[in-house]
Amino acid sequence: MSHDPNCLFCKIIAGQIPSRQVYEDDELFAFHDIHPWAPVHFLLVPKRHIASMAHLADADAGLMGRLMVLAPRLAIEQGCKPYPEGGFRIVANTGAEGGQEVHHLHVHVMGGPRPWARG
Ligand code: 5GP
Ligand code: ZN
Repeated sequence: MSHDPNCLFCKIIAGQIPSRQVYEDDELFAFHDIHPWAPVHFLLVPKRHIASMAHLADADAGLMGRLMVLAPRLAIEQGCKPYPEGGFRIVANTGAEGGQEVHHLHVHVMGGPRPWARG
């Protein structure tokens, strides 16, 4: 399923729920987390509804490669200082024991000066 009408992040991607957008292309979307843990904290997601990292298929390797290559660029654009003094943290919570609350694959990209609120 490419769009799940009951999925919060599908609604955000479709613009049905407002968000502070960071990036958009034909396959990927990024927006600020509503409860940031760090001075920079945005979520980077595939537009297609994929429930979690556990649902990835071999055919998704290119998509996820693009996502991971994009993350550092967006982190810098959003104010993270460059590596190695700056940098960022990428987290992909997966499943109940992985702490996943929204079941549309997303990576958290967090950075900025410490201390952070969490993490
Ligand atoms: P998870 O625990 O699934 O990895 O993280 C889900 C994240 O989505 C949380 O950090 C939470 O703050 C964020 N979030 C939940 N609802 C919304 C929303 O309506 N808008 C935005 N921008 N972020 C949300
Ligand atoms: Zn979704």
